[in-house]
Amino acid sequence: MTNAALAPGRRTISEEFLRAFAREKLTALESQGLLRTLAETERPRAGRADRADHELVSFSCNDYLGLSHHPDVIRASEEATRQYGVGAGGSRLVSGNNPLYTRLEAVLARIKGTEDAVVFGSGYLANIGVIPVIAGPDDLILMDELCHACLYAGATLARSRVIRFGHRNTGEVAHLLTRHRHSHRHCLVLTDGVFSMDGDRAPVADLLELCERHESWLMTDDAHGLGVVENGRGSGVVEGRPVPIPLQMGTLSKAVGAYGGYLCTHTEVADLVRNRARSLLYTTGLPPGNLAATIAALEIIETDIDLVNAPLRHARRFAEAVGLPRPASPIVPILLGDVEPTIRAAQRLEELGFLVVAIRPPTVPEGTARLRCTFSASHTEDEVDRFAAAVTDVLETP
Ligand SMILES: *Cc1c(COP(=O)(O)O)cnc(C)c1O
Repeated sequence: MTNAALAPGRRTISEEFLRAFAREKLTALESQGLLRTLAETERPRAGRADRADHELVSFSCNDYLGLSHHPDVIRASEEATRQYGVGAGGSRLVSGNNPLYTRLEAVLARIKGTEDAVVFGSGYLANIGVIPVIAGPDDLILMDELCHACLYAGATLARSRVIRFGHRNTGEVAHLLTRHRHSHRHCLVLTDGVFSMDGDRAPVADLLELCERHESWLMTDDAHGLGVVENGRGSGVVEGRPVPIPLQMGTLSKAVGAYGGYLCTHTEVADLVRNRARSLLYTTGLPPGNLAATIAALEIIETDIDLVNAPLRHARRFAEAVGLPRPASPIVPILLGDVEPTIRAAQRLEELGFLVVAIRPPTVPEGTARLRCTFSASHTEDEVDRFAAAVTDVLETP
């Protein structure tokens, strides 16, 4: 039997259909100014980005401490790769649980002051894995409206009742708990510790107290806290005092400079997560070189206080120079509102030698397009000052 659909060079009917479907979606995105393209970007060293062969000073990178290029971190990665090979070869539960995992989880638990830690393939995988282990269909999830997309993804997978509360609005959380907690089996409260697009910090101590009062569990996402706030200890510390948040997840892909995600928690919860989190069980372990890199990076974060305080110091210097409020983290948003002027401002800054990416909906709410500036220990004060002058210039002459 011959199959005409398989004739070389021929487009099948279903293929035409599929292409038309994608084209229509793309056209709709483009007409809203929301079409995104991936720009090739090389990072030859921390704090820099090469695009189309010109070098920019990057204020768009989450490598807050420049650890992705730190010689000790690179050396650890190279040595482990030589010793163990490039890939893990299997899921952690099968043959991919390199001994470096045990060391890494111990370092994370030590830094966060928790009993145990579980390492995932990424922060995203941690959130979509952990949340459905803790909450299910009979449960209630309350989450800050500005939570990161992967907390929403995890909450969706949990199939719980999900209610968003206004950004950092503890009064609303108290009200929702009083009104809805009793009609659900368990309740999980989710928040970013440091908000990824706004750079402000969640009121974690107040949220924990509310959770205690209403028999609920607090889970924070410390992706932008570890390594850069509270002497590098992250958003689980408030003004120097640790807050005993029972579920603290985070990423190894930002200040830690490599890749991976984690949950720091109590022993029993960690063991349950190792048994039940599908995004840990059914995915390959991290490359051994990456595990070794993160251990080396975390040891630097634990000991180099000047390094971990540098990004916030730069952010505050910048904010003062351009007349913005004093930042609580190395993330400084400049809200411009509409998409078009934000893209134009980013383009002009690029012409002046600075990389700052325009952030637009749906990453941020409608009408809050912004330049999101992030500061790194790799920047010099001179670079920060020149950047502030360029931003002032671009904002004053739109
Ligand atoms: C980046 C980010 C994540 C995802 O972490 P990855 O390791 O990059 O997958 C999760 N939560 C927040 C708040 C983030 O900013």
